[in-house]
Amino acid sequence: MNSWPSNLGVCRDRELAPHTYFGIGGPAQYLAIADEASRLTELLDFGSSRELPVTVLGNASNVLIGDDGVEGLVIINQARQLGLHEREKISAESGALMGQLAHFAAENGIGGFEFGLGIPGSVGGSVFGNAGCFGSDISKVLERALVWRNDGVSWQGRDEFEFGYRCSALQREPGLAVVIEVRLQGVARPESEIRSRMVQIQDQRRQSQPADRSAGSIFKNPAGDFAGRLIEKAGLKGARSGAAQVSDRHANFIVNRGQARAADVVALMDRIRRRVHEVSGIRLEPEIRRIGSGFGETA
Ligand SMILES: Cc1cc2nc3c(=O)[nH]c(=O)nc-3n(C[C@H](O)[C@H](O)[C@H](O)COP(=O)(O)OP(=O)(O)OC[C@H]3O[C@@H](n4cnc5c(N)ncnc54)[C@H](O)[C@@H]3O)c2cc1C
Repeated sequence: MNSWPSNLGVCRDRELAPHTYFGIGGPAQYLAIADEASRLTELLDFGSSRELPVTVLGNASNVLIGDDGVEGLVIINQARQLGLHEREKISAESGALMGQLAHFAAENGIGGFEFGLGIPGSVGGSVFGNAGCFGSDISKVLERALVWRNDGVSWQGRDEFEFGYRCSALQREPGLAVVIEVRLQGVARPESEIRSRMVQIQDQRRQSQPADRSAGSIFKNPAGDFAGRLIEKAGLKGARSGAAQVSDRHANFIVNRGQARAADVVALMDRIRRRVHEVSGIRLEPEIRRIGSGFGETA
């Protein structure tokens, strides 16, 4: 039995589906929303002092939450403060959204963040997975980040994150190392130039991606190829499992057509992986992260 200080706003047995981009997932045993970086560290310290498993979500745009939910404390990080640190340097709380960051940078004549408009996630989630698009990713603008671990917080330089394609060293310790705040470095550029690039990015996104509920790209692109092309070649565009469907617009997206369950998504992912391997000999690697339990039978 855990008793929580009332100021932390922790609730018991709360459905996570409404908090996720996919609209899928069972309840969190405990759920709290952090709207400031200091509240985020307070919650992390408290959860850790109770030896509870802790899961931090940003905008939950790259996760599949299991149908049976998540044990322990789930923190939704909405600490979104942004500030100018020095010339062309931005400080951001880790719950800031990548689109919010792109607009803030544009207003201040700082280029290099335009790609953020294509990513509906938080800065923290983007550091975790080195999110990127249109030829850039967060590793190109990150200078350092304040990271929480159960023995305290410390600043880590970019190299310590060992960034690669959609990966970082944080993925080796999920839930144990949490980005609290970041310092980012851009380049001076006229606002009009930045804005026209942002319009291009938005137009391309609208044309190429489904607007339905999803978790973004389901699989990583294998070296030298595109997961979407391979899935289409395997004849799986539009394939369904329950209410989960391979998007007609972009085959590397699975969309939630109604009341999809995590088990439906996983069954569809397994089918895609098997069929793509049969047709092209390539084993696709998931990009989305599974969190919690209740994913049905997997092959
Ligand atoms: C329509 C759509 C389009 C997308 N397009 C792209 C794209 O072009 N490129 C791309 O890279 N991604 C894309 N994504 C995926 C997603 O938006 C990114 O991966 C994003 O960076 C995830 O951020 P988030 O806050 O939503 O993370 P979440 O989904 O909340 O979490 C993802 C993982 O990060 C961990 N995490 C979250 N916050 C922190 C933190 N502060 N510290 C440590 N770990 C943390 C979580 O525990 C989880 O394991 C897209 C998604 C959608 C739905």
